[in-house]
Amino acid sequence: MATQRNFSFTNRFYNAIPVAYQYAKVSPFSNNHLVCVSPAALKTLHLDDNVTQQDDFLAFISGQKLPEQGYSIAQVYAGHQFGQFVSQLGDGRALGIGEIQTPDDKYYELQLKGAGVTPYSRHGDGRAVLRSTIREFLASEALHHLNIPTTRALAITSTSDVVYREKPEPGAILTRFAESHIRFGHFEYFFHSNDIETLNQLADFCLTHYFTEANDAEDKHLAMLLEIVKRTAHLIAKWQSVGFTHGVLNTDNMSILGLTIDYGPFGFLDTYQPAFISNHSDHTGRYAFEQQPNIGLWNLNALAYTFSAWLSATQIRGALATYEQELVAHYNELMATKLGIEKWQDSDNQLLGQLFALMEQQQADYTRVFRMLNQVSCSDQNNQACQALLAEFSDSGPMVKWLESYRTRLLADTMNESSRIQRQNNANPKYILRNYLAQSAIQSAYVGDYQEISQLTALLSKPFDEQVRYNAYAKTAPDWSKELNISCSS
Ligand code: AMP
Ligand code: MG
Ligand code: MG
Repeated sequence: MATQRNFSFTNRFYNAIPVAYQYAKVSPFSNNHLVCVSPAALKTLHLDDNVTQQDDFLAFISGQKLPEQGYSIAQVYAGHQFGQFVSQLGDGRALGIGEIQTPDDKYYELQLKGAGVTPYSRHGDGRAVLRSTIREFLASEALHHLNIPTTRALAITSTSDVVYREKPEPGAILTRFAESHIRFGHFEYFFHSNDIETLNQLADFCLTHYFTEANDAEDKHLAMLLEIVKRTAHLIAKWQSVGFTHGVLNTDNMSILGLTIDYGPFGFLDTYQPAFISNHSDHTGRYAFEQQPNIGLWNLNALAYTFSAWLSATQIRGALATYEQELVAHYNELMATKLGIEKWQDSDNQLLGQLFALMEQQQADYTRVFRMLNQVSCSDQNNQACQALLAEFSDSGPMVKWLESYRTRLLADTMNESSRIQRQNNANPKYILRNYLAQSAIQSAYVGDYQEISQLTALLSKPFDEQVRYNAYAKTAPDWSKELNISCSS
């Protein structure tokens, strides 16, 4: 097949841990067409742009043809869903079709999401509707370009075959990929089913391929746990810094590699609301924006418990105790860059806290306010240059006051203004995947126009660049978007 000519397909996970999956046949739709492709993902996979013109490419990503050495498998895992342990879950609608080895010696496992029922589908139909694949496609690529670790999205195919949710909708298949899709839930599954032999295989596999430094450590398992704690802490710090809410932080949706995985009812903050709940089914706000740092630790607790196969309670407690410090330190580093401060100091908590309070009280837009801090000049005490920033606040008085403390803080640094602003512009995105933007792309797609998806993909691949032509995409959310309800799997 043309798309594979430059690749060797391997299946390292499938070979190493045979009981961690079951075969499942791909059930392609009866007709397929290409909806969108991520140019950046093609690059990551070292695929030519013109590969998408080839019939084989469509056959491959719509599940009609499998790669030569590929076979379709569904992985088994368990997980804590909304705090309750579920002893067996698994890929209910994602099929792994093999691992691509790129010329730079990286490995990416490809999965077709929505390709039909698997042994783990339970009562589900194994399908995805076009709207949910568009959301995952746009969000994966957007987070990647915000420098946030994530599973990636290569392409979407759709069909005239319908999938039933509340109403019939176009079905679709998303091709996603990651170095690994191993979740906290994989460890939970083998630990809680008392299959310690496979648990050992799983840990060894992770150590060999993903945690090579830990693999050289004196206590490999402790070193690996510490690294997972650190990656999770850093991931969540990054989400908090851009205002991303995952929406379903069950342990089966937590990646061992610290990737953002499983995009369902995610949402970016528009106005700054720390208690924002992106998931319409999350009635208690367990996965609200401000809860994510706590939930990260809760989930790590569930993972760390499975490490009692190798570690003492004291070692586990010690590893978990590093989480808060890792998260706070990384978050402070990110927020320092966003504020244009050279190095975070304890007193900066107060400055940031005051800004947050103002944004919350006055329902100011999180992304726009941070971006507009680039208007603040230390020499301009009259705020001539930052009228647009002040206009983000319904009552500018308290913000004018805040700006005084902010300028004083900036003056305490030695960095010159233009370097500071450049650094800030590379940290405060101008364009993010606001819910209403995703929704507009979905609405166009539902009447057969996929142009908006490509446009958004291109725009969000440079979220920090001024793209004047697209300034409309940086506007605050319209009122209608507040009514949008996004729930779990669709
Ligand atoms: P999620 O809430 O997306 O993490 O999904 C939880 C579990 O339900 C996972 O095991 C999914 O694979 C499975 N699942 C979600 N949607 C479907 C579906 N339409 N058909 C089969 N399984 C599904
Ligand atoms: Mg999931
Ligand atoms: Mg999901």
